Amino acid sequence: MSSTDVPVCDVFRITNKRKITDRNVCVSKNMKTKVSAIVCESYDPPLLEEKVKLAVELAGGWPEKLKPGANVLLKPNLLSARTPEHCVTTHPELVRAVIRELRKKGIEKITIADSPAGNYSWQELWEKTGMRKIADEEKVQLIPVEDFVRQEVPGYGSVPILKEFSSFDVFISIPKLKTHLLTKVTGAVKNSYGLMVGEAKSGFHGKCPSPRKMADFLAAVYGIIKPDFVIMDAVESMAGDGPAAGFPFKSGILFAGTDAVAVDSCACAVYGYAAREIPLLVKTETLGFGTTAPELIEKNGDGWEKMKNMNAKRSISDVLHRFPEPMFHILTLLLKCRPRIKQDKCVKCGKCFKVCSQKAIEFSSDKYSVNSGRCILCMCCIEACPVKAIDLRYPAQRMMSVIDFFRRKKK
Ligand code: SF4
Ligand code: SF4
Repeated sequence: MSSTDVPVCDVFRITNKRKITDRNVCVSKNMKTKVSAIVCESYDPPLLEEKVKLAVELAGGWPEKLKPGANVLLKPNLLSARTPEHCVTTHPELVRAVIRELRKKGIEKITIADSPAGNYSWQELWEKTGMRKIADEEKVQLIPVEDFVRQEVPGYGSVPILKEFSSFDVFISIPKLKTHLLTKVTGAVKNSYGLMVGEAKSGFHGKCPSPRKMADFLAAVYGIIKPDFVIMDAVESMAGDGPAAGFPFKSGILFAGTDAVAVDSCACAVYGYAAREIPLLVKTETLGFGTTAPELIEKNGDGWEKMKNMNAKRSISDVLHRFPEPMFHILTLLLKCRPRIKQDKCVKCGKCFKVCSQKAIEFSSDKYSVNSGRCILCMCCIEACPVKAIDLRYPAQRMMSVIDFFRRKKK
């Protein structure tokens, strides 16, 4: 299907000079899409190359516009300067395998870009995540997400997007599958958010101060930063309180597809979720940016059987999503549901202090602490902390988790 066969979503037309490409069109309601799930148990480079090739083939192949001469953007998840075994970031060997597959297609111009949550130097980010090594060895460009152009997101004003974004012909998203304290799961749809320039990301939490409001905003932003193809790193995923404070989970799968919404709707089953339980996916589908409908997704590959009953541990986001929207702030405040800084683990780097858009992190008597009244529970400090010194434990959590567990059982 060509870009002219699908309806352009007028609401999301871009108002600046960025060219309209088929990234910015709504998905036809009856368009079928392919998602592949391939068993891949390790980051061994030759194995990954073989599995990436298979995943791409079974997802219907690379987009047609991926031709020799194309200028390609690779967008891994580089949330923070952590080494790959923490599973916070996309594994560098997967990025290498994708680059090598692209080379076989005659692609020369390849660029890697993503922005972290928190105040990291680009060099530190690229060194720790392994991206510097991959970029040097595979001779691809690595750029900071610093310079930006502003683009309109209806209902939210303009957002700063990586300036170079419009110069790429093909955008390949390489997300990491993780749990997320705000959105339940983070995968391909949320990965696009990293192309918004750093500090602005935390600033928008102030305008969307609840998990549902943030999901609506993320879905709207996704509409202007849609990838052309997704290869998701779920070889080792993150379980528990992701996206930064969880723990590695060996799910052993690579997902691929052209529709990020469809890919995420399949991958969330690793945590036992149906797509309809993820507000971000429901919203992106409602806006016409992809599908979660099983009848519109052709599932290929040997990974589906492996996923049955995987049930990796979720974050406490399930509980947060059950708070009534208008009372979210007051209820969470009354329940003392706020981040807690573990003083014995804190290395006093100040990253949480800098990332907090609400100035809710305070520094006095030589220690950082959270001012509960100011906190809007955006989780940015938890994401930014490099040593997992911040968590979200609160007195009523155990009781609410039990209620939530039985509610899920009843469904
Ligand atoms: S303290 Fe943390 S969770 Fe609360 S508003 Fe600041 S960054 Fe967000
Ligand atoms: S809590 Fe984490 S981010 Fe904040 S100062 Fe301590 S180590 Fe740094």
